[in-house]
Amino acid sequence: MRSKAVVGNWKLNGSLGSNEALLKALLQAIPQGGPVACAVCVPAPYLAQARDLLEGSGIGWGSQDVSRFEKGAYTGDVSGAMVAEFGSRYAIVGHSERRTVFGDTDEVVVAKHAAARRAGLTPIFCIGETLGEREAGRTEEVLARQVDALLAGGAEVLKGGIVAYEPVWAIGTGKTATSQQAQEAHAFVRGRIGSKDRGVAEQLPILYGGSVKASNAAELFAMPDVDGGLVGGASLVAEEFVAIWRAAGSAGR
Ligand code: PEP
Repeated sequence: MRSKAVVGNWKLNGSLGSNEALLKALLQAIPQGGPVACAVCVPAPYLAQARDLLEGSGIGWGSQDVSRFEKGAYTGDVSGAMVAEFGSRYAIVGHSERRTVFGDTDEVVVAKHAAARRAGLTPIFCIGETLGEREAGRTEEVLARQVDALLAGGAEVLKGGIVAYEPVWAIGTGKTATSQQAQEAHAFVRGRIGSKDRGVAEQLPILYGGSVKASNAAELFAMPDVDGGLVGGASLVAEEFVAIWRAAGSAGR
């Protein structure tokens, strides 16, 4: 059976004080060794704090991006090795905000994915279409392009990794994809990967992201190809995030 995960993406939010309160509340509710992995991807300056509070707990941590470079004159970048040095397990790559605001191309995202793997991190590879692309009937074309860029390196690059389908029009907008829309996209992505390597595709957790809340999580997570969630806004509110994590555990599949 595929593993499931619920991962929080804090984006550009937090402070030492508010992080501590949030993480302590999560620690109260999330035990070690549950059937659904739980993690938070925090701004890089807070990786040490995440490690100090979460080490030995059932909650993992990681970064929201990673440099495609190992070291050198790349001002502002944070390497995979640096992220890993703080005990991180995960690194988000290709988030739509990195793609649109910071200009990460498919090529850059693939290089970041490889850099995360080299550092021993589990990349969370984000893909998704914009509203214009969906309305133009181009959803599958866009997902295929994004996935194929990665698959060019062989399907084994996805072994042990995670994919997150995040329709751009649903991120931070309060508009969630219907469970049917999510399932269709996830099945398409799994099929695309499966055409290269069925075993990798079957084992690959594909998370849904885009305005996941406690109120819609159970319906989304009940879909056969939805293996949990990547959660932005709701991951900043302990009760919401815990309820979403619990919904993944009780989804009947
Ligand atoms: C995200 O940042 O990955 C995300 C899905 O955000 P939100 O849950 O706020 O839509």
